[in-house]
Amino acid sequence: MTPQFKRLALIGVGLIGSSIARAARSLGVVEEIVVTSRSEPTRQRAAELGLADRVTETAAEAAVDADLVIVCVPIGACAAVAREIGPKLKQGAIVSDVGSVKCAIVRDMAPHIPPGVHFIPGHPVAGTEHSGPDAGFAELFVNRWCILTPAKDADSSAVERLSQFWKAFGASVEIMSPEHHDLVLAVTSHVPHLIAYNIVGTAFDLRHVTESEILKYSAGGFRDFTRIAASDPTMWRDIFLNNKDAVLEVLGRFNEDLATLTRAIRRGDGDSLFNLFAERRAIRRGMVQFNLDAPAPNFQRAAPETPEPPLPRPYAASGDD
Ligand code: NAP
Repeated sequence: MTPQFKRLALIGVGLIGSSIARAARSLGVVEEIVVTSRSEPTRQRAAELGLADRVTETAAEAAVDADLVIVCVPIGACAAVAREIGPKLKQGAIVSDVGSVKCAIVRDMAPHIPPGVHFIPGHPVAGTEHSGPDAGFAELFVNRWCILTPAKDADSSAVERLSQFWKAFGASVEIMSPEHHDLVLAVTSHVPHLIAYNIVGTAFDLRHVTESEILKYSAGGFRDFTRIAASDPTMWRDIFLNNKDAVLEVLGRFNEDLATLTRAIRRGDGDSLFNLFAERRAIRRGMVQFNLDAPAPNFQRAAPETPEPPLPRPYAASGDD
């Protein structure tokens, strides 16, 4: 592949940053990769893993002369990184990020990006519950969405170049406003994660159900909840602090729907329950029909007695679907 950018700088080299580095290197999408990380052990590990041509001590050093800079740190740390790299960015460079929330990223980073540098926030909707440079892999973005949220007056050729970069990794790119992104992700990812964190706590707080019973009978749904609840606490804290409005909006609706279900159960209202479940089943069947998920029984998992094989990518475990 002809390299699309000369120098790529990755600020942060955990799961997402190291996956970008691996994919960019294996596909030859860029000529040179420079990475940095906050701590010495992570920088050292990035060097040992051969993730980059150069590992710098600071974000400012990494940004110098880079054509594409992608900030891959927790959302709450993006403002400080933008402040540090802002004065070092070269004219015409593209700056992006991978944060799971977009309005807060625009609020925190945009003021530090100088004129003549293209700021195009991004969010690869792909992940696992693991963190750090060892957790990354080059195929993480294959068959996944990457959402870009450029400002209305953003340079269209810069947006196109960044889109092509993500497409080279096997991702599909969608452009939307930061506000719409945050609402969509609140429904599809943030509130489901909150429910997972909550149900795992509820189950383990029940005094008359033992821990071993929970583990023993954790087939299907609950097992998925426990895996999601294993996601990085820093990342998820920052998501809820920074997508407060959209999450509260979705949670409000969720609580109303849950109240309807609770009332039907309390009243023994079988008709309401049946109609509601039938309606939701039709939604699920529609997803399968439009190839949005797998029709295989048990969501393509092996029977409990046999070892669980890795899932094909579009259905694999994800920390940030
Ligand atoms: P990660 O594996 O934990 O790596 C985090 C990276 O950021 C490391 O290089 C870490 O440096 C650095 N970092 C942590 N705290 C920092 C701070 N206060 N200041 C500066 N650097 C800091 O995290 P990740 O999963 O790659 O997530 C990174 C970003 O990707 C987050 O914004 C998240 O919202 C987004 N994202 C995550 C997923 C997912 O499923 N994980 C999916 C899509 C998007 P040290 O190790 O040196 O401390």
